Amino acid sequence: MMPASGRKYKVADQAVAATAGMHDLLMRARAAYSGLAIGDALGATVEFMTPREIRHQYGVHRDIIGGGWLRLGKGEITDDTEMSLALGRSVLQQGGVDAAAVAEAFSDWMRGRPRDVGNTVRRGIMHYRNTGKAESLPNDMDAGNGSCMRTLPVALYTLGADTGTVVRASRIQAHVTHNASIADAGTEKVIELVQLAVMGASKDTLAASMDDLVARCPVFRYRDRIINNPSGYIVDTLQVVFDAFLRTACFESCLVEVVNRGGDADTTAAIAGMMAGAFYGLDQIPERWLGSVNGTVMNACLQQAESLVHMSPACREHG
Ligand code: MN
Ligand code: MN
Repeated sequence: MMPASGRKYKVADQAVAATAGMHDLLMRARAAYSGLAIGDALGATVEFMTPREIRHQYGVHRDIIGGGWLRLGKGEITDDTEMSLALGRSVLQQGGVDAAAVAEAFSDWMRGRPRDVGNTVRRGIMHYRNTGKAESLPNDMDAGNGSCMRTLPVALYTLGADTGTVVRASRIQAHVTHNASIADAGTEKVIELVQLAVMGASKDTLAASMDDLVARCPVFRYRDRIINNPSGYIVDTLQVVFDAFLRTACFESCLVEVVNRGGDADTTAAIAGMMAGAFYGLDQIPERWLGSVNGTVMNACLQQAESLVHMSPACREHG
């Protein structure tokens, strides 16, 4: 086990960034965004089921077939991917992460009557509509995973930026609906993991980065335990994602492991999908999954991935 020191992986990270070519960054960014949509579509079928119910109904759930409590068509995605795309569009249009623009984008999305809107998300958007304030009130009792599940556009847009810039951008988008320090810590860690993976970091480096979060916030401890039925609490969510990522050796087994734990499965799989996608790369994602997600959604994901990385400091450095 790697020591939970924040220093070590930062050094490795810069060495890796210097050697990763632009083409590789773009391919891994595309894999991260497809991984998010695939995880969402795969997990939605078993969202809120227990592992036992999943076993009974599907044996091992491993195909994108729709259904679930939202009665999705095959290849349809949910709020996790939709809110990511709404955030990404806003960042691309504004040329940055602007609180009012993000709040407006989320409000527009909700006006379209999405099938699924999380409670904290709804409250944050209503707060914006009623007060014009694009920052929800601090509430450490409500550290849901809703800001983390949609964080990928910020991770790609701030690729290669300094930590302060990344944290500011993350909190602007997160606080529109989720203003809780533990949710911030988790979301910022996921951004770091995705960025490390996009830059080609090793699994040991990612594990050290995960352990660094546990060292700072012990509540996230994920080693030596199997969490089933993860709730929408950011801690449950990341415990499952980290454990499954380190326990498995390919994109497919990582996502299968995550969704068969049940609970908030579309969201755990969306987050695992962005990390594992970035880490394993596009050609390790099963063809049957890539081909199953709604084509319009998949194209939007791939296009955003590319455009966001093109706007990032990492890309500007590469010229
Ligand atoms: Mn969802
Ligand atoms: Mn969910």
